[in-house]
Amino acid sequence: MHHIILIGPPGAGKGTQATKLVEQRRMVQLSTGDMLRQAAKSGSELGIEVAKIMESGAFVSDDIVTALIEERLSSGDQMHGGFIFDGYPRTLAQADSLSRLMESVKTHLDGVIELVVDPEVLFERITGRLSCPNCGAVYHRSANPPDKEDICDSCGHKGLVQREDDTEAALRTRLLEYYRKTSPLTGYYFRSQQLYQIDANGTPAEVAEGVLSIFNNFAS
Ligand code: ADP
Ligand code: AMP
Repeated sequence: MHHIILIGPPGAGKGTQATKLVEQRRMVQLSTGDMLRQAAKSGSELGIEVAKIMESGAFVSDDIVTALIEERLSSGDQMHGGFIFDGYPRTLAQADSLSRLMESVKTHLDGVIELVVDPEVLFERITGRLSCPNCGAVYHRSANPPDKEDICDSCGHKGLVQREDDTEAALRTRLLEYYRKTSPLTGYYFRSQQLYQIDANGTPAEVAEGVLSIFNNFAS
């Protein structure tokens, strides 16, 4: 069992690769973006607040996201093939919290995989992304369309949507947030010798090969 972080800017392909690892290695995907979208849908006071922040492209507070992760880690969830942290941690404070949380459940991270993608590719991926509002499955208008137009392959829901924050304006804010607050984490994990960088400009299958090859480096 191995626990990893997938790190990279919005559109790098974290969710796409996490889905493959769930299928191939029976890992558990912990996406704070998915958890926050769920909270936003609930219509609670906190959910409404969270939805507003997410739509702008800014980060939700460290306290809120760390509480969500803490709840999942302490829920006694079966770890199966290990955890994939997708979109968390995004700040140095979150990285410190995660390290304490992992210690408290007597485990540790095996590696942090950075998906490195050219900026113009990110723009194309984000503005073409389609999501299923029912199950969260992710597609791309041209690179990865569903088998039947506008119908989710995974759950059969009709009506795929563009996320509220997958607009040009919100993407600019999201990229600024990433480069200011998240990219320093690569230095943090380089220092602890846990960082693996891969070129993620290729096809999803090519990137998946790169991700899987990193697992061979982990102690068993
Ligand atoms: P992230 O979780 O890092 O924001 P996603 O996995 O949601 O990124 O991918 C963003 C968009 O790019 C989606 O529309 C997805 O289908 C598409 N995509 C993901 N990986 C690739 C790839 N290697 N090549 C082309 N398109 C991709
Ligand atoms: P994602 O689905 O990972 O692209 O995340 C969508 C949005 O959710 C981000 O733009 C942030 O507003 C919020 N978000 C997700 N994860 C975090 C996190 N770890 N810290 C702060 N905000 C987050």
